[in-house]
Amino acid sequence: MIKNLENFINDLKLKNITIKNVDIEKYLLEKRGNFISKAKYVVLPKNTEEVSYILKQANIFLINIVPQGGNTGLVGGSLANERVVILNLSMMDKIIEVDILNKSVTLEAGISINKLNSYLKKYKLEFPLYLPSYKECSIGGNIATNAGGINAIKYGTTRDLVLGIEMVSGSGEILHDLTSLRKRNIGMDIKNIGIGSEGTLGIVTKASLKLSYIKKYSFNVMIGVNKTNIIQKILKIVNYNFFDYIQAFELMNDESIKIVKDITNIKIKINKIAKYNVLIQFKSNLKNCLQIVKDSIYLMLEKMEKNNNIMFFQIYNNDKIWEIRNAIPEAQKKIGFNLKNDFSVSISKIFDALEKINVAIKKFNKKLISVIFGHLGDGNLHINIIDVGNKNNLKEKQDELKQILVKIIMELDGTFSAEHGIGMLNKKYLKQYYPLNRNMLIKIKEILDKNLILNKNKLM
Ligand SMILES: Cc1cc2nc3c(=O)[nH]c(=O)nc-3n(C[C@H](O)[C@H](O)[C@H](O)COP(=O)(O)OP(=O)(O)OC[C@H]3O[C@@H](n4cnc5c(N)ncnc54)[C@H](O)[C@@H]3O)c2cc1C
Repeated sequence: MIKNLENFINDLKLKNITIKNVDIEKYLLEKRGNFISKAKYVVLPKNTEEVSYILKQANIFLINIVPQGGNTGLVGGSLANERVVILNLSMMDKIIEVDILNKSVTLEAGISINKLNSYLKKYKLEFPLYLPSYKECSIGGNIATNAGGINAIKYGTTRDLVLGIEMVSGSGEILHDLTSLRKRNIGMDIKNIGIGSEGTLGIVTKASLKLSYIKKYSFNVMIGVNKTNIIQKILKIVNYNFFDYIQAFELMNDESIKIVKDITNIKIKINKIAKYNVLIQFKSNLKNCLQIVKDSIYLMLEKMEKNNNIMFFQIYNNDKIWEIRNAIPEAQKKIGFNLKNDFSVSISKIFDALEKINVAIKKFNKKLISVIFGHLGDGNLHINIIDVGNKNNLKEKQDELKQILVKIIMELDGTFSAEHGIGMLNKKYLKQYYPLNRNMLIKIKEILDKNLILNKNKLM
């Protein structure tokens, strides 16, 4: 076996595969600055056959490959050291077919959600996965991480939106499971092996996705609440009466709105900030129905405000208010080290989790700030703890605090990764809490990637 990076790269060059070895910062730097890759080469295949060739040769030369889409992942899944080659899918971004009646699209996996949805506008269709990183993240990355995002309450996570995939296994075989059929019961569902596999089993090269019609009318409501039992009540009433119209049900605590107001240039008028601020989005193509929803919500919240159950509410007729929600991840990065958490618990236990976590953080160090936001309607919250000005050595003590918080979540039958995945960041918790699942994943990897070429040391 030849174990030589330069020989491998020369071999690819002979096949005219695009290779970059200069100006590769955008492939190396993780969005939050927590990880920096040291890879010397980035290869950019133009089609599935090139991906297959690269992987077959990587098995011969024994070179580790890290698949990469938009490099917006937050758990170090795209991290690559100097001996590893990054395989970036950005040159594979073509739309192959839109089937309007079937409400589906078949495409190459390097395309971003933004580019896809700009193209689909003329058909009044959209891919309804919405992440604040939508301009950069790729469909392949969304599939590999089983991304969730803001509209998961309505459309589910990526897994619920994928009809079929084409994937090149670690050994270079092309697994063709690319179908647009909505019903297809032919034994085990192979595509589900690829979804959420974080680039450890294969490289997703094409996909067929479910689409939705773009909804013409929308409005948003922000509700300020100081008591968590009231949020529960609102969630219950809104779910019961208006579930068909809900597009998003998000939470932002006071600290998360304050940092956006203090750190960014976003100028959106918010009259008051409560301890917990719930942002709900409603959408429909039926203008009159949406007006009825709006009037009913208004009456309900007016009554709650009069009875002092809620602190305030505000209705927004456009979506500008989402700029605040979308700016939270970037804003927090600017004020100090952040310990990020992406927790999931059943919705009925979410407020119990919040109270226990708040107590634990205060006990650990009163000076730390908790920025709590995320997809409350799905039981998924990002609980990010910031050491403003890095005065409390949180970076050095992060493992200790994380263990405490993960324990609280696991004891409430929740989990430590709702949507960002395992990557490098959550590996030890997978090993600690799910040893049998991890062993099963290792066995599957041995079948699809026997030389452990792909994303070595990630996830498992
Ligand atoms: C501001 C911001 C907000 C975010 N909000 C959300 C959110 O609300 N919900 C959410 O779920 N995530 C969120 N993310 C995380 C991130 O955007 C998602 O995980 C996204 O799906 C990653 O896509 P990507 O193309 O950038 O993948 P990358 O970052 O390039 O890769 C992520 C992982 O997938 C693998 N991979 C990438 N492409 C492929 C492929 N074609 N085949 C096989 N493996 C592949 C990589 O090896 C890596 O392990 C956010 C990120 C940022 C920066």
